[in-house]
Amino acid sequence: MQRITIAKGDGIGPEIMDATLEIIKAAGAQLEYDEIEVGEKVYLSGNTSGIASESWDIIRRNKVFLKAPITTPQGGGYKSLNVTTRKFLGLYSNVRPCVSLHPFVETKHPKMDIVIVRENEEDLYAGIEHQQTDEVVQCLKIISRPGCEKIVRYAFEYAKVYGRKKVTCFTKDNIMKQSDGLFHQVFDEIATEYPEIENEHWIIDIGAAKMSDTPEVFDVIVTLNLYGDVLSDIAAQIAGSVGLAGSANIGEECAMFEAIHGSAPRRAGQNLANPSGLLEGAVMMLNHIGQTEIAEKVQNAWLKTIEDGIHTYDIFKEGISKQKVGTKEFAQAIVANLGKKPSLLKEVSYAKEAVLNLPKYVKKPAAKKDLVGVDIFVHWNGTNPDELAEKIQKLNNDSVKLSMITNRGIKVWPDGFSETFCTDHWRCRFKPFNSHQIDKQSIIKLLLSAIDNGIDSIKTENLYEFDGKPGYSLGQGQ
Ligand code: NAD
Repeated sequence: MQRITIAKGDGIGPEIMDATLEIIKAAGAQLEYDEIEVGEKVYLSGNTSGIASESWDIIRRNKVFLKAPITTPQGGGYKSLNVTTRKFLGLYSNVRPCVSLHPFVETKHPKMDIVIVRENEEDLYAGIEHQQTDEVVQCLKIISRPGCEKIVRYAFEYAKVYGRKKVTCFTKDNIMKQSDGLFHQVFDEIATEYPEIENEHWIIDIGAAKMSDTPEVFDVIVTLNLYGDVLSDIAAQIAGSVGLAGSANIGEECAMFEAIHGSAPRRAGQNLANPSGLLEGAVMMLNHIGQTEIAEKVQNAWLKTIEDGIHTYDIFKEGISKQKVGTKEFAQAIVANLGKKPSLLKEVSYAKEAVLNLPKYVKKPAAKKDLVGVDIFVHWNGTNPDELAEKIQKLNNDSVKLSMITNRGIKVWPDGFSETFCTDHWRCRFKPFNSHQIDKQSIIKLLLSAIDNGIDSIKTENLYEFDGKPGYSLGQGQ
């Protein structure tokens, strides 16, 4: 018997949760439940996180959480409970299978069978944003080696345990050579440990285009947080419907399972909603806790029900579907099909031990780290970079001097183009000259000198080399 936490959520949440629990109970799931309240009511009671602190205790104790969708009230100040849960509980891996149910659910991609493994904690979702000048705001993209290693390993382990043949990595490392470059590099490193699984890398733009057009050439896709967010909704939609896809959020200790869709408030309370998304989440949960035979039984009964043409309104299609049913009747049809297998759709068979081998991250030995320069970012309202360079060169001292100015990453001094549009946010790069060294004292000296010269410095970034390799990008055009 496994104790799990459930939350029925808002809108269609309670109906699809009741349907899901009825089906998995009938299939023999060995579960006990603690129910917690999350979402709209909690938000509107004045709790901006949408969850009470006692509920965190229950989630952390049980470690497994099945969550129905919630409604985030309109208006500022309410934090997304999903993002908070993923980050607080370290749920680094978001797994979204998107499979076509052709010819029973309409899709242009009858052979599609993709699993998207999305990094869930890092990237632009760190939510570190600052306004720095009148015209410029910044959002930091944070990518860590442990973050990359954990998600890439998860993708390969998933492929191994679920009999998948290929893992494809999507990044934009032709542009983001440091951040996406690290993800790609880690992918290449870990891929060598799985010689039996094919691996490949695509640049995200053309990769996403290919996936939307010919999804059958992909199997498991692993990618960074933002790309995975967009890509997985597209994949679910082109497979047939976002209403059919479930999602697992997996961490080292805890895990959360849900549907990918929202609370569909307009459909609430009418016995209309399709419970398939949450049910698919529950199937992943049963696999995760080792109740793989039950997971298999539920999944095959669900496939059989879809195949029987018993459909909720969202996937109902004259000529394909046989019977339009409500949430409850759909659940009852699945229960009646428990023990049966689909005949046209591919039946599933989950390994008895669907356990992924996920070793803890091991820190690498620290590299030799040398400070080799500094970027001082400056708020300046002028438009002529040569004029700014003249002012900034006054900060040069006997060990460091201005080597370049960029505006939005494009080199504008020395030898800039007059056509380059400049905003009020300038990066001034200082490097040591001849055999001089730069240290933190010289950076402070530069900043003090900026104050004396009336320069509005808004932030600095140190330039480092790690084991002799530059840990910073060049200016575009440099
Ligand atoms: P939504 O996913 O709730 O609905 C989009 C469309 O799909 C609607 O037309 C809806 O009727 C339909 N739909 C969705 N799920 C369905 C189902 N199971 N059966 C039948 N039809 C279904 O997205 P939205 O309307 O943008 O958001 C509604 C609320 O849900 C918002 O408050 C949003 O913040 C929240 N939301 C929550 C989650 C979550 O809790 N994980 C995820 C996304 C959105």
